[in-house]
Amino acid sequence: MVSVPSWKDKALYTPGPLTTSRTVKQAMLRDFGSRDFAFIEVVKDIRRRLLDAGEVAGAGYDAIPMQGSGTFSIEAVLGSTVRPDGKALIVVNGAYGKRMARICRVLRIDHETIECPENSVPNLDAIRAKLDTGAFTDLAVVHCETTTGIINPIREIGAIARVAGAQYFVDAMSSFGAVPFNLADCGIDYLVSSANKCIEGVPGFGFVIARRAALDTTEGWARSLSLDLLDQVRGLEKDGQFRFTPPTHALLAFHQALVELEAEGGPAGRGARYRKNHETLVAGMRALGFREYLPPELQGYIITSFLYPDDPNWSFETFYRLLNERDFVIYPGKVSNADCFRIGTIGRLFEQDMRALLAALREVVVEMGLRL
Ligand SMILES: *Cc1c(COP(=O)(O)O)cnc(C)c1O
Repeated sequence: MVSVPSWKDKALYTPGPLTTSRTVKQAMLRDFGSRDFAFIEVVKDIRRRLLDAGEVAGAGYDAIPMQGSGTFSIEAVLGSTVRPDGKALIVVNGAYGKRMARICRVLRIDHETIECPENSVPNLDAIRAKLDTGAFTDLAVVHCETTTGIINPIREIGAIARVAGAQYFVDAMSSFGAVPFNLADCGIDYLVSSANKCIEGVPGFGFVIARRAALDTTEGWARSLSLDLLDQVRGLEKDGQFRFTPPTHALLAFHQALVELEAEGGPAGRGARYRKNHETLVAGMRALGFREYLPPELQGYIITSFLYPDDPNWSFETFYRLLNERDFVIYPGKVSNADCFRIGTIGRLFEQDMRALLAALREVVVEMGLRL
């Protein structure tokens, strides 16, 4: 028999699912029917609060929750909003950019990638030159490339898309809610994030924030029924209900998470906590002798990649296990050309949690006999 230890949860220093507050978890202790009037009001309020977080209340945008993990929402945008004879340009500097290209391949959406190394931001002139050929109807980019933690310049790239007349799609999965920006100012037509990243809800759905005038032109373009974005928003508008079974408990948790986001001062307040977490972590890691993969000027405060130390006693598996035994969960690396591990600084974690992790790391370094 599998038993789940109930005495204490491990702290998750990962890119999601994340550590959540007790009150977010408690919000799930209800059984709502999907047609319940109170539940329908909760969904409405979630959609309203998401527009606030994106600074676009009353600015012609709609927030559309979509069942599934974040990738399902990315697939919903690409599959529903690239017109049948359209062509997407996908900016790639990490695994999540590559994933968007893979979705296009599977859905047989005509596309090209413009790639740059994982430790550098995309070249704006190269993107402009590509779009100037007139071959592309859509441009897609990842905001925080969770592969490394780099923050891509979505405002500058959006300005290029606007001039070229291309629809602009941003995967802001791991930044939305903690890196403040105004979607309209960035020229974003479609943005995707999910419940279990910086808004600190539990997994179960993602959401799209769409410029409605753009979305309304996509009638009949969807390559999937369950991931049809326009049909999803029309269903919600008709009677407040999801077309298919909604993740009711995850939505209740998310509503509470949005209330807690507002109480923390919105994305700016949350970003300040995460930044402090990141600064505390990096200072402590450097003191222990670890080095970051990215140069500090490109590094965001969401997640940080650290290089494997050059030490004969190093083993990521042992390092991970010894931390895990102490109830600290870190994350493996994803960079393609360097050996790294990752530590996230998002979720319901505070400066004292970073100090606790650093104390555990110090013990593990000694126990493994690493000389850093
Ligand atoms: C986490 C993440 C995803 C994928 O989300 P899933 O919920 O695992 O499907 C996509 N893009 C970025 C940038 C992410 O950080």
